[in-house]
Amino acid sequence: MTGSPTRNPAGMPEGMPDWMDEGLAHLWLPYTQMKTAPAPLPVASTEGVRIRLTDGSELVDGIASWWTAAHGYRHPHIEAAVKRQLETLPHVMLGGLMHEQAATLAARLARMLPGDLDRVFFCESGSVSVEIAMKMAVQYWLNKGERRTRFLSFTGGYHGDTFVTMSVCDPEEGMHTMFRGVVPEQLIADLPVDDDSTARFEALLAAKGHEIAAVLVEPLVQGAGGMRFHDAATLQRLRAACDRHGILLVFDEIFVGFARTGLAMFACEATGVLPDILTLSKALTGGTLPLAATVASKKVFDAFWDDDPLKALMHGPTYMGNALACAAANASLDLFEQEARLGQAQAIGRHLAAGLEPARGLPGVRDVRVLGGIGVIELSHLGDAAWLKQRFREEGVWLRPFGNILYTTPALTIGEDDLNRLTTALVKVAGDWSARFGTHGPLEKGE
Ligand code: PLP
Repeated sequence: MTGSPTRNPAGMPEGMPDWMDEGLAHLWLPYTQMKTAPAPLPVASTEGVRIRLTDGSELVDGIASWWTAAHGYRHPHIEAAVKRQLETLPHVMLGGLMHEQAATLAARLARMLPGDLDRVFFCESGSVSVEIAMKMAVQYWLNKGERRTRFLSFTGGYHGDTFVTMSVCDPEEGMHTMFRGVVPEQLIADLPVDDDSTARFEALLAAKGHEIAAVLVEPLVQGAGGMRFHDAATLQRLRAACDRHGILLVFDEIFVGFARTGLAMFACEATGVLPDILTLSKALTGGTLPLAATVASKKVFDAFWDDDPLKALMHGPTYMGNALACAAANASLDLFEQEARLGQAQAIGRHLAAGLEPARGLPGVRDVRVLGGIGVIELSHLGDAAWLKQRFREEGVWLRPFGNILYTTPALTIGEDDLNRLTTALVKVAGDWSARFGTHGPLEKGE
């Protein structure tokens, strides 16, 4: 085993539980340089917006586990639904069999979504739901006797980490730059937000439109690619251009769906712009179990509806429509329906806008922006990622910047005091960062 270190050479900090010491030698962690990264924080339990560590200390969670735990951790209504389901039917394959939770969930999602977005295909993760949307789009054209195999997506976009979703992420700014030339080459444009970018976008479609199966976009907010916002008019332009060229439009609502923007439950509802295919995940189960959905409009589904078995969608993840996950999602939808999550997201937005404002104008702070339950302080460059993470921890909050993007996407149920803790920490750490690194040039890139 020489030359093959299995431990983080930085060693384990004092007071770590044995299971961490033992397990870390065998775990491969997300987005992590295993050799140099500090050990992750060992969590004993979660509740509401609190993460309790094994040493008894608590952090106020400002990310809600990558935006999943919209109702806070361990919501009793979701817990009870999952427990009940566990006792009768935790899982059964959806190939040839059906269960009530998946059927109910599909019908509910179809009712909640606007227009004729009413055919739901389940899978386990966001990336896979986007892959399925892309496969659906290509086969839509094949079933109609046309071969369109390319996709158009946008700079600043993020749609997942699997092989094909990497190809529709921002190729320069994203995390997948080294796979350029390896993943399928797609068309990447700037979002048509103004006259210039619209002209470039239209020119690209005029030249290549006949090759494009679908345009993919995160509507209203490009999340993991940099928390950048755009308006409904941009989406209207996309819809009009797609209609003109007969191209399908895919909305990836994995980040913005379920009231995150404070504008409506879904971006398509808020903007009145309807996609042909839509993907959902994250808050779908309220942060309890993995589940995602690719929802097709009637027009898309109709292209598969045929006597010819070869026109069927040949896809079927083993755990698709897992009954525990669907039970969690049905309970999560109950909460979205019964409790005022949209109003909460709006109130969070007002609080964040006021609370983060003092960071605007600090040396090295490029922008402060807020939309509903999304608050962002964008730095002009990255000072020292490990320093930032450590400072947030010292402030008693769990925040994990993306490069130069300090952001919070808390549970929509977060209370005033905890929200204050987050905004105070964000402004304080941004101020410390500004004093220390704000006038220097870029020092380091990366997560
Ligand atoms: N699409 C968007 C908009 C996302 O924000 C994410 C994850 O952050 C994904 C796709 C990928 O989802 P997953 O990590 O569940 O594969």
